[in-house]
Amino acid sequence: METVLKRYFKHDRFRAGQKDIIASVLAGRDTVAILPTGGGKSICYQLPSYLLPEGLTVILSPLLSLIEDQVMQIKSRGERSVAKLTSHETKDQKEQILRHLSQLRYLYLSPEQLAMPNVKQRLQQTNINLFVVDEAHCISQWGHEFRPEYAKLGIVKKELGNPTCLALTATATKQVEQDMLRGLELSDPTIIRHSVNRPEIQFIVEDVEPDQKDHVLANWLTKVERPCVIYTTTRNEAERVARLITKATYYHAGLEAEDRQLIQQQFLHDEIECLVCTSAFGMGVNKGNVRTVIHYAMPATIEAYMQEVGRAGRDGELSTALLLYAKGDHRLQQFLVEKQYAPVLWIDQLLAGMARQEPLETMERRLGLDVEDPAYRLLKSQLSDRWSREDIIAWQEERKKIRLRELMQMINYIQSITCRRTFILNHFDEQPIVQDRCCDICGNTTTQSPQKRHTIEILDWEQRLEEVFFSSADSV
Ligand code: ADP
Repeated sequence: METVLKRYFKHDRFRAGQKDIIASVLAGRDTVAILPTGGGKSICYQLPSYLLPEGLTVILSPLLSLIEDQVMQIKSRGERSVAKLTSHETKDQKEQILRHLSQLRYLYLSPEQLAMPNVKQRLQQTNINLFVVDEAHCISQWGHEFRPEYAKLGIVKKELGNPTCLALTATATKQVEQDMLRGLELSDPTIIRHSVNRPEIQFIVEDVEPDQKDHVLANWLTKVERPCVIYTTTRNEAERVARLITKATYYHAGLEAEDRQLIQQQFLHDEIECLVCTSAFGMGVNKGNVRTVIHYAMPATIEAYMQEVGRAGRDGELSTALLLYAKGDHRLQQFLVEKQYAPVLWIDQLLAGMARQEPLETMERRLGLDVEDPAYRLLKSQLSDRWSREDIIAWQEERKKIRLRELMQMINYIQSITCRRTFILNHFDEQPIVQDRCCDICGNTTTQSPQKRHTIEILDWEQRLEEVFFSSADSV
């Protein structure tokens, strides 16, 4: 294994977990691997291909950018037998790829592409030596990035003759882990779980007055090291904040693909010191020396927070995760939870149209539905699976409650009066760790710790949250 690692990947030794994962896959066992962001998950499925009997490694990935990035990296190490099936390939290109599957080593695609009858059919005729599900937490309704197409992967895997399966993720609570096992119908799998702890990162939260946030941010930027990533919740906010900072650029999904690519490259090559972005930035970006990740606003879940924070210190050097919180910040996240689900009006209009046998495309045009909108995509998938109106609404309500509970956990992290690292480790059912340069609560950070806290407000704060969360959405 080491020879292959050196020869094809130019690394001298394996990182923690990699060898066990690869050995399990080579032994033909279904494997679930939970490795932190930057832990080196790609090698775990790319390396076995050189040691397994001939066949295709199929990699399911949720995002186009992630797929493109991986394919580019594989090609840049001189491996040509790789292809992708995404919305960027033309019909002819796809056909060409499908005709030559047996000559490929790796095929990247999204679960949506895999569900296409011609793709599935061709893959059924191909010898698949490994079925990889990247970002496998998307399979879980309890996960923070649930995708309905992921939930069907277990069935598709069976249709493809049940090849050995490797499920990879950076963050999974025990509950999500169980969902991965069940959803992918893994038989007697090896489970390799590495700590989510990132000892090189110190955690700081600062409570700020809403109108002081920009000022506090500017102050922190004089103290923390760069390169720095600043996460905002909205695109507008990313643009506004970037304008406040010298040597900063913004990045979000509203930019043209070429601009995004250019900014990523400039950031990778240290030509941009400070990147202000939405959550659209990050997956698949391999920059080792990010010294600071600042959250200008709170993320929706601890899982999302850890993924974004995990972009700091990939080179193992000391780094900082700072979160700025102003009273009321959670409201935007609460609003976004509501927006993730289709309104009842859509359900009724679509069901009425379906009863009249109106084609879906016509309805989409007539009702002005955006086929890329995740809320609509989710609804479409449920309707095509013949869910009833009542089932959809009940499911949505259940999901919203889960999301709000997750948001509550994030608020609890922000308001924690005990060690923040311990809080995170507890969340992932791990044992606490005592270390230097831990967090602002432990008081041993190497940048100045925040002094000001709204501690007196915690009690009535939680009561207020109950009111906000469980009252009508109009209060937002
Ligand atoms: P993940 O998907 O877990 O976030 P990646 O697979 O993208 O991580 O790997 C992160 C970085 O670590 C990449 O730059 C990769 O080349 C590097 N890497 C992976 N395995 C090793 C190793 N054994 N030795 C040195 N570097 C490695």
